[in-house]
Amino acid sequence: AATINDESETPGDKLIGGLLTADFDEGSCLSRYHKNFLYRKPSPYKPSEYLVSKLRSYEMIHKRCGPGTKAYKEATKHLSHDESYNASRSDGECRYVVWLADYGLGNRLLTLASVFLYALLTDRVILVDNRKDIGDLLCEPFPGTSWLLPLDFPLMKYTYGYNKDYPRCYGTMEENHSINSTSIPPHLYLHNLHDSRDSDKMFFCQKDQSLIDKVPWLIFRANVYFVPSLWFNPTFQAELTKLFPQKETVFHHLARYLFHPKNQVWDIVTKYYHDHLSKAEERLGIQIRVFRDQGGYYQHVMDQVISCTQREKLLPELATQEESKVNISNTPKLKAVLVTSLSPEYSKKLENMFSERSNLTGEIIEVYQPSGERYQQTDKKQHDQKALAEMYLLSLTDNIVTSSRSTFGYVAYSLGALKPWLLYLPNDLKAPDPPCVRSTSMEPCFLTPPTHGCDADLGTESGKVVPFVRYCEDIWGLKLY
Ligand code: GDP
Repeated sequence: AATINDESETPGDKLIGGLLTADFDEGSCLSRYHKNFLYRKPSPYKPSEYLVSKLRSYEMIHKRCGPGTKAYKEATKHLSHDESYNASRSDGECRYVVWLADYGLGNRLLTLASVFLYALLTDRVILVDNRKDIGDLLCEPFPGTSWLLPLDFPLMKYTYGYNKDYPRCYGTMEENHSINSTSIPPHLYLHNLHDSRDSDKMFFCQKDQSLIDKVPWLIFRANVYFVPSLWFNPTFQAELTKLFPQKETVFHHLARYLFHPKNQVWDIVTKYYHDHLSKAEERLGIQIRVFRDQGGYYQHVMDQVISCTQREKLLPELATQEESKVNISNTPKLKAVLVTSLSPEYSKKLENMFSERSNLTGEIIEVYQPSGERYQQTDKKQHDQKALAEMYLLSLTDNIVTSSRSTFGYVAYSLGALKPWLLYLPNDLKAPDPPCVRSTSMEPCFLTPPTHGCDADLGTESGKVVPFVRYCEDIWGLKLY
């Protein structure tokens, strides 16, 4: 297969400062080497050399331990839901962490990055649950192996789901004092959902890690971006600082390393970009997510979007009849506005607004919305492909406005290294005032963080443990700055 070895041949930097390995065939996954220099201004954020070398050594470990290897067969041989506690039997050469697919695509990408980072920090191999459609959306990220968990993985044949009442749920075992270093189980389930207790959330603390580290298999169910809390563990913090000297680049780098849309998705992105966005001098992304009765159109949300974009000078004010007679500019600027939402009405209204009346800057405003799916249909292949394509399209804009609390928006802005304007969550069917706030970080917000720090910092509230992990601007949660 053709590989890209000579970076100097290509305009831009196909391997993004060494973040990507050159060991892949190009055609099987066009987005891998193309996306970063064809459509994007080069990211101002370069991966550290330490991150690059860590990723290359991770790739070696994954190849040695991945599905189909002797090590994998050995490690899965005795796994079952009711295995007896026996640490010595499962003392293989590879340790694993299994990521389970849950909730919407934004949630999935955030947790996948979080679990991968945890794997990097703990020298584990990540395997992803392939019973849903993640394999239809993303290319393989590691060369010469697969990250997809084989469908015959023994721990997937369960009748009751993974939850707090699962017998090997770490938090529950902690609460019942039924786990200690003399009884290390071959697998543990880590529950990182919005209903997690502190006993679930604090798995990364040193005290907990000294035990969890010995467990060969960890199963993660998560729907939150838990990366900010990993910095509460001093050992992790030292390593993380070397990996990410620029702290707010964690998701940006990990997403560009891990998430390469499959050709079918990439086709949607490139066509749409060429047809609608490439000609514009400036691109504005607006992501509208309504967390009420299946989304839908609400006038107060429309009002909020308009008030935010005008107030922040992202879109011009409309002209009065008097003002519109003045000729403002001979060569008006073309601005493309990319709206994404489940409902098609927002972009229609915006389009009408700017086509029916002239505006004060004289810019030509073109409004586009790739799809209006009406309601969330997670796990339907084409629906999820559109969602992924739209996250990517949004990431290619110059400025972005996103909805508070939406992981869909988090992926889009962080991937694009954009500091978003966050639309506050409306309450009582009224547009909040102020309508939005500019984030000073491009990191996603961890929406249900622990309330306090680890071990020595148990008495310190979580937003004050380290200076660069602080409360999010728009909503309760923690973010890296
Ligand atoms: P969150 O619920 O906003 O945090 O984002 P998720 O991505 O986790 O879940 C919402 C899901 O609804 C998405 O994955 C899509 O399936 C769908 N969805 C929501 N907003 C949009 C949108 O703007 N465009 C498309 N195509 N799908 C959307």
